[in-house]
Amino acid sequence: MSEVAVPYRARPHRRWTRTAAVVLAVAAASTGGPAAEPAEAAPPQRVQRVEYFPGPGAEPRRVTVPADTPAARRADRAPDPAVRPLQRTGPVSGRLDLVVTGDGYTAGQQDEFAADAAEKLDAIFRIEPYRSYRGLFNIWLVGAVSPESGVSGDPTADVVRKTALGSAFFCDGLERLLCVDTGAVTRYAALAPDADIVFVVANSAKYGGAGYSAPDLPPGSPFHGVATMSSDNDRSYLIGAHELGHSIGELADEYQYPGYGPYPWAEEPAAANLTLRRDPAEAKWRRWAGVQDPTGSVVGTYEGGGYYETGVHRPTDTSLMRTLAATEFNVVGREAMIAGFYADADALTSPVPTAEPVRGTRPITVRLAPLTGLADLRLTWSVDGRPVPWATGLRTVTPYALGARGPGHRVTATVTDRTAALRDPAARARAANSLTWTLR
Ligand SMILES: [Zn+2]
Repeated sequence: MSEVAVPYRARPHRRWTRTAAVVLAVAAASTGGPAAEPAEAAPPQRVQRVEYFPGPGAEPRRVTVPADTPAARRADRAPDPAVRPLQRTGPVSGRLDLVVTGDGYTAGQQDEFAADAAEKLDAIFRIEPYRSYRGLFNIWLVGAVSPESGVSGDPTADVVRKTALGSAFFCDGLERLLCVDTGAVTRYAALAPDADIVFVVANSAKYGGAGYSAPDLPPGSPFHGVATMSSDNDRSYLIGAHELGHSIGELADEYQYPGYGPYPWAEEPAAANLTLRRDPAEAKWRRWAGVQDPTGSVVGTYEGGGYYETGVHRPTDTSLMRTLAATEFNVVGREAMIAGFYADADALTSPVPTAEPVRGTRPITVRLAPLTGLADLRLTWSVDGRPVPWATGLRTVTPYALGARGPGHRVTATVTDRTAALRDPAARARAANSLTWTLR
């Protein structure tokens, strides 16, 4: 096992590109892997970086582990899994698609898997801002069938079970580190219509899990992150909640390692929740400075984060990005998460295609994602860029009724989220979606 000092790197684009994934996977292997071998020698063992959660109260850390599942744990052939939506709030193109698959569930235990998955998801979606924005998610269950019930390493390291995804505790000798064969995960997740994020629920009462961020996944993985968590442990859901913080909010870890010393880079970190600035009034989250945070402290600049002890600051004393003992994001994390939701999902969708010109008498219906709590959606209409105030809030209009007459004129619906949870103007700008139809 070796710890890696490289900070979490946010992906450069919302949709992870194959080229970038290859480059980063090679970089990960070369920083954490064994020394280079001569060309004629056996290929070096593939390694991956994962985030490890020693216990609900302990701070997570990142470790490097073998990427390949030993053959003893790998199921040779598994029956085709059933794929079904647990929640469908809109079209795949307009939603974040979360795929949940089980491991260590036999053919006769698929109902148990569905119940366990629903329980995990309900726990995660009780945390803000997931709670308010659950309506931006589609959730798919992929019922992977394992030959044996339970997973390897439960309860002891010597226990080996053949399962669909090769899940195992004691990964690289760390009891609570629940690794998975990410190649198998990729194949199963591909059975759902789209996968932005994948959760693997392992059939076990033992505490454990792991987080694989985009740069740590095999080249070509189409999703942003994978989180593993044990089914019956009532704290393991926090692993999924934390990992989504990386993959959706592009948030950095807010913890540090003893002995890591000062932050070694001169440039301001890319993540929304780390800054080199010591003065809260100069921090990137200055609009939140002094606010009483849901995690318990006042928003300011707290030294330590991104694995380093000094020279870098986090917004609050604690948070879900620092320790799983905290069960809330801070307001800075919430803001980044909401901006991330809107980068991949749209609150506004319509069954009337925008690609084809519409008749003036054609009713145009729009749908708003079923958001609650923190969210504050407002629907407005305009014709050729001029607002039509009386139509505010209407879900169905015709171009004629709005005053649009003649070919080429344009009708636009815009939904803006006026949530108080967004203070950064750039984030607020991302929280608006528009659709435009052209008259024929
Ligand atoms: Zn993390």
